[in-house]
Amino acid sequence: MHFSGFRVIKEALTGHKGWKPLWRDPEPQPEYDIVIVGGGGHGLATAYYLANTFGEARVAVLEKGWLGSGNIGRNTTIIRSNYLLPGNEPFYEFSMKLWEGLEQEFNFNAMVSQRGILNLCHSDGQRDAFRRRGNAMLLAGADAELLDRDGVRAMYPFLNFDNARFPIKGGLLQRRAGTARHDGVAWGYARGADRKGVDIIQNCEVTGFRIEGGAVRGLETTRGAIRARKVGVAVAGSSGLVMAKAGMRLPIESHVLQAFVSEGLKPCIDGVITFGAGHFYVSQSDKGGLVFGGDIDGYNSYAQRGNLPVVEDVIEGGMALMPRIGRARLLRSWGGIMDMSMDGSPIIDATHIDGLYLNAGWCYGGFKATPASGYAFAHLLATGRPHPTATAFRLDRFARGHVIDEKGVGAQPNLH
Ligand SMILES: Cc1cc2nc3c(=O)[nH]c(=O)nc-3n(C[C@H](O)[C@H](O)[C@H](O)COP(=O)(O)OP(=O)(O)OC[C@H]3O[C@@H](n4cnc5c(N)ncnc54)[C@H](O)[C@@H]3O)c2cc1C
Repeated sequence: MHFSGFRVIKEALTGHKGWKPLWRDPEPQPEYDIVIVGGGGHGLATAYYLANTFGEARVAVLEKGWLGSGNIGRNTTIIRSNYLLPGNEPFYEFSMKLWEGLEQEFNFNAMVSQRGILNLCHSDGQRDAFRRRGNAMLLAGADAELLDRDGVRAMYPFLNFDNARFPIKGGLLQRRAGTARHDGVAWGYARGADRKGVDIIQNCEVTGFRIEGGAVRGLETTRGAIRARKVGVAVAGSSGLVMAKAGMRLPIESHVLQAFVSEGLKPCIDGVITFGAGHFYVSQSDKGGLVFGGDIDGYNSYAQRGNLPVVEDVIEGGMALMPRIGRARLLRSWGGIMDMSMDGSPIIDATHIDGLYLNAGWCYGGFKATPASGYAFAHLLATGRPHPTATAFRLDRFARGHVIDEKGVGAQPNLH
């Protein structure tokens, strides 16, 4: 079934009887060429590109819960490519370009909205750092603009410009950045992969690996054993737990990140704004809710819910930046498990076990990476070579000292 405006009108006039499920519900086969563990955004995107771009015919995605139950359905939907380091920026700009054509490519409305992201600066030093980052973005073919105080005021007059501790001095604007509907992204990739013959198997938890002679031969799951020539693991916050079943210890810690949404309000913020003197960022959903978030919780956890001190910290950041947020009522908050790597950058690499590949370490920025991560992981699985934009995301970089420490905070995952 092809989605179009015409189709919506036809269904509206004929009682909505023609819509079909977006993907099949197949039984697991005893054997596949490639099995992807994890039906989040990255796993589904990988399967989609494997089948669609690299012509792999016998592919399955195994998901322990339902599609969208992990971070893909819990994030604050921001997409951007405003990175500094050469290992990162070309990859995220590749992702941005894929976002720009994604809905047409997989024929699904993922509500990609290039409404712009503005990073505010509050000191001269921070402005210098933003100028440098903006220049790095331009060199990688992305867009970036440095705004002065008046430029920011023209966009968002309601911000607290003269806050005694954190006066706003300007901001780094990426106009092509924005938001996308996170579940729509998962559903679009799932539907696209299913149409190319990928088996998407929900309620199927991977409980172990079959490894013989240093090579992966298949998986143990709650729905029986499945043989596979290659296995790609993309389980985000569960990366440490799953890879431990293959005897591997990862340079990754799991932490909780919370997000918040207010009651629906009339349109008042048309882009994404990030506070530069604390951890707070905000945008407004199409339903009208203010969607905002901040820092991760202060301790390691596998709980998909957070604690109250971070709630207080995020709200304090919001009040410092835009005091009028204090009049909005909070509707919901939730948490997701983040795979925080030691340098804050991801891993897309083969492991020392032949046929076993890893996609992990997305910290709290993996949603924007979904298209490029899926594409690069599919490239690696299909060809055995890293995608040109993802050559730095190696698992052994911590041993070799070639870390990609975007924030420059050192090997402390909770600070990235
Ligand atoms: C509150 C919050 C806000 C965020 N905001 C942003 C943002 O604005 N922008 C941005 O770029 N990023 C953001 N992120 C980060 C982003 O959501 C993640 O980095 C990204 O979604 C991770 O990749 P994924 O979608 O594949 O993960 P997931 O959706 O978590 O997928 C992993 C899947 O693996 C499954 N799984 C786990 N163990 C097994 C097993 N043993 N067998 C089978 N399946 C298994 C899980 O059930 C899960 O569905 C945010 C995250 C959170 C929690």
